[in-house]
Amino acid sequence: MSNFRIFKQVPRLLFGADSVDRLAELLPPKTSPEDYYVFVIDDVHKGGLIPPRLKATENDIIEYFPASKKEPSTAQVDEVRDKIVSLKGKQKPKSVIGLGGGSTMDVAKAVSVMLCNEGSSSQYQGWDLVPVPGLHKIGIPTVAGSGAEASRTAVLMGKDRKFGINSDFSMFDAIILDSSLIKNVPTDQRFYSGMDCYIHCVESLQGTMINELARGYASKALDLCESVFLADGDDDMLMTASYLGGVSIVNSEVGVCHALSYGLSLELGYRHGFANCVAFNVLDDYYGPWVDKFRQMLEIHKVTLPKNVTKSLDENAMKRMVEMTLRMERPLTNALGPDWKNILTPEKIVRLYEKM
Ligand code: NAD
Ligand code: ZN
Repeated sequence: MSNFRIFKQVPRLLFGADSVDRLAELLPPKTSPEDYYVFVIDDVHKGGLIPPRLKATENDIIEYFPASKKEPSTAQVDEVRDKIVSLKGKQKPKSVIGLGGGSTMDVAKAVSVMLCNEGSSSQYQGWDLVPVPGLHKIGIPTVAGSGAEASRTAVLMGKDRKFGINSDFSMFDAIILDSSLIKNVPTDQRFYSGMDCYIHCVESLQGTMINELARGYASKALDLCESVFLADGDDDMLMTASYLGGVSIVNSEVGVCHALSYGLSLELGYRHGFANCVAFNVLDDYYGPWVDKFRQMLEIHKVTLPKNVTKSLDENAMKRMVEMTLRMERPLTNALGPDWKNILTPEKIVRLYEKM
């Protein structure tokens, strides 16, 4: 029998430049004066031209999320949830809208889940641990690559681990892929987030959990990434790549690069896309031809990666990074097969970290 997990997709989608102006068409209508929406917005947009386009009203809650500071955490999600409850009591929002990069969209997803489930969001990090469906939610990426708009996970930093709330209930009910929103992303950030997509595709295509459906999405997304970063592909192509890459991951898995990059984010506080780039650059043995192409892309976009990044870390920090990597059982099984523990030993992981 097939072991394919029933595949939920985002059911409603708007695509194209300026489609954000049609948000109202996707929102559940307000039917009483108490009804409200919650907007979780990347604080890079504070005072900018994008938030007014969401047409929030006085009764709505706008929460600016500091996405540039660090990876989003379970504590931050719990805090936003508590704030909403303290302001509105038992009255729940009609929708939670996340506008920003993967971090902000993941926070919006998690807040929507946590407005319906007891306790702390850290209790639900794992696979299918969320008992009660979350609230209606809409994702609007303003930087492309993470694929968070398409996925069933909300990745959060917990006390000692970075882990996703993986659940059908943390998937958006609608998304808006508006390429006009990514046009001012700084070159480096565009590159790091875009490479997250490229790496998702490589890991998905090279993994043992791949199936034809996931291959269809990942190979198209990979082509689009190459058009964008090796040639002159446009923002619609990058938006599409991010979405298709995300869909592919729903049906497959990431691999060695993500397993290592989570350790970098945990100990060095590196942002996800950047951490992936640092890790991918040493993975010739696993993803050789794609690492070569990645280096061409670095050169074309004049992006320089730091060297010796783990030099300042003591033995304990390295140990925690190795432990974090070894916890990534699914990605490592995907990349290396069921025998992965004998292939990627702790010593090998240390050597890879030392090479970065
Ligand atoms: P991000 O959300 O971490 O944001 C990166 C930076 O880009 C931030 O400084 C942000 O303020 C800035 N930014 C966002 N939009 C901008 C704009 N229009 N102009 C200028 N700056 C802008 O970036 P990301 O790469 O999209 O997401 C990475 C996060 O997503 C990580 O937390 C990662 O763990 C998570 N992730 C989630 C999934 C998933 O399936 N849920 C998949 C991959 C990654
Ligand atoms: Zn990723």
